[in-house]
Amino acid sequence: MSFLNYLEVFIQTKLGLFFVFVLGTMFGSFFNVCIYRLPKELSVIKPRSFCPNCKKTIPWYYNIPIFSWLYLRGKCAYCGAKISFRYFFIEFLTGLIFAFGVYKFGVSFKALEFILLASIMLILFFTDLDERILPDEITLGFIPIGLIFAYFSPDRGFVESLVVGVVGAGLLFLLAYIYLKIKGIEGMGMGDVKMLALMGTFLGKQAFLALMIASVVGTIVGLFIIYVLKKGRQYEIPFGCFLSIGTIITYLYGNDIVHYYITHFLQQHY
Ligand SMILES: [Zn+2]
Repeated sequence: MSFLNYLEVFIQTKLGLFFVFVLGTMFGSFFNVCIYRLPKELSVIKPRSFCPNCKKTIPWYYNIPIFSWLYLRGKCAYCGAKISFRYFFIEFLTGLIFAFGVYKFGVSFKALEFILLASIMLILFFTDLDERILPDEITLGFIPIGLIFAYFSPDRGFVESLVVGVVGAGLLFLLAYIYLKIKGIEGMGMGDVKMLALMGTFLGKQAFLALMIASVVGTIVGLFIIYVLKKGRQYEIPFGCFLSIGTIITYLYGNDIVHYYITHFLQQHY
């Protein structure tokens, strides 16, 4: 066996998956920066991480994913300001995404694609939740990457991804634009449309399934927010959060859902 074969076998052991988890937490640390800075149109590279309260630059030994937050008990080492549990949570979740991707898909193209897609959806989920913003750097920026993955994917064709992602979402974009010009209000956010384009490149025609799941879950949660939490109808639902959830469910279980639907609801008509 070559070195690469050994590496492939090792990565799928429990210890190997743990290393993949740790690698994920490091990416998660960077995703925290993206979630905080991208909606504010700040650079994600410069300056280095600093405490938003006392503005001190955080040295590397206080910036170790998961560990630092626990060690500092969620407080800045200099001024004692509270550091949100979210930082810890996103690092942990990203670690899980990485380890799950390798656990489920092995050392493969599909694992890489899942990890990339889930990471993108994680960032979009939280920027939309926090600021109601889906940054163009992510939505538009990863459309070409989605198309490159589609080109190499055994599951969906390049043309399919191009048609759904670019042409389909382009039509939605045009509709939303016309609606905005005529009515003067956003029927559907432009950010949502750009996110749908991105989803189309990664999911192909199953992007419609993801949109359906997002709409159903979004409606249920929306009703809950209005009638149980009594937030009022003007509360703006972060639809991108539901699109994220719909995308991940569809990527993992889309084929199963379509198959179930066909065998249970369509077959008896033949
Ligand atoms: Zn501080």
